[in-house]
Amino acid sequence: MNRQELISYCLTYAGAYEDYPFGEEWTVMRHGGNRKGFAFIYERDGRLCVNLKCDPMRADFLRQAFRNVSPGYHMNHEHWITVALDGPDQSGSDVPDLELAGMIKHSYDLTKPKPKRGKTAARLMDIHSRLRTHYGNPHWWPGETPYEIITGAILTQNTAWGNVKKALANFGGRLSPEYVLGLEHGELAEIIRPAGFFNQKAGYLQTVTSWFRQYEYDVGTVRALPQARIREELLALRGVGRETADDILLYAFGFSSFVVDAYTMRLADRLPLPAGQDYEAVKAFFEKHLPLDTQLYNEYHALIVMNGNAHCRKKPSCGGCPLIELCAAERKAAR
Ligand code: SF4
Repeated sequence: MNRQELISYCLTYAGAYEDYPFGEEWTVMRHGGNRKGFAFIYERDGRLCVNLKCDPMRADFLRQAFRNVSPGYHMNHEHWITVALDGPDQSGSDVPDLELAGMIKHSYDLTKPKPKRGKTAARLMDIHSRLRTHYGNPHWWPGETPYEIITGAILTQNTAWGNVKKALANFGGRLSPEYVLGLEHGELAEIIRPAGFFNQKAGYLQTVTSWFRQYEYDVGTVRALPQARIREELLALRGVGRETADDILLYAFGFSSFVVDAYTMRLADRLPLPAGQDYEAVKAFFEKHLPLDTQLYNEYHALIVMNGNAHCRKKPSCGGCPLIELCAAERKAAR
């Protein structure tokens, strides 16, 4: 990667911009929200270098694994690393591009703006806490492997989870990306018939599997890339809407992408929460006010679904709902 390619890559991250506060020699890649730098790019002794923030334990491991990773030059040695890249003399680097991408993403995540803590944040955490106390750890998503989760996310569209389970059982333990792509469309449709809309879903599943193939079905490879890019790629696929894309991002790949569904919209409407009326607004509302925490997002969505099934149905059954003390809809109904 040369300097311009490195800058262009950093610019693919949401809100990133380049800055030159120390003159042309140092390019600082910053977050738009808090102006914090996550990559400092410069040349030293004729070699392209980049300083990245890094968790100290991970930094220790990287320094041992790669000759070209060293304590941060001109920066805190414990929390920053310097990665030396190719020089003009083709001196090369032992850090593969994919590994470098993972280090940049890690630095970007460590320096990104923290959500504001206010009344709304406290209220959202209170909702989570009450649901978690009532229902326990939801252990979502039900699936043995990331690919099974991807398959479940496609199959669950417009059908109950019980039907998805029957369709998954029909694979007889052979479910894998290679197996799915090796099937004729009709054969696959027959296997997933219990999930309904099986002809369309067979096409959707093969489309998303072909997309996954470009990353050699490797979760680590996908995770090393910016979340916004993967979301964009998923949304461009036939049969992958916003909810499905976010299910895959969060539950299959472990990205911090909050999932919104009909239960979330209904709950926001009834409590109410000032979350907005459309998918992206509601998603942005939760992501703005909750800590950036994949496990929290994982549980939060699952718990909303569980409460939606148990209590906050189309016709609510408010007796015993763990959110009853917070809910304006219940108070209105009780009057
Ligand atoms: S109290 Fe009733 S309306 Fe409010 S969240 Fe619970 S079930 Fe829904």
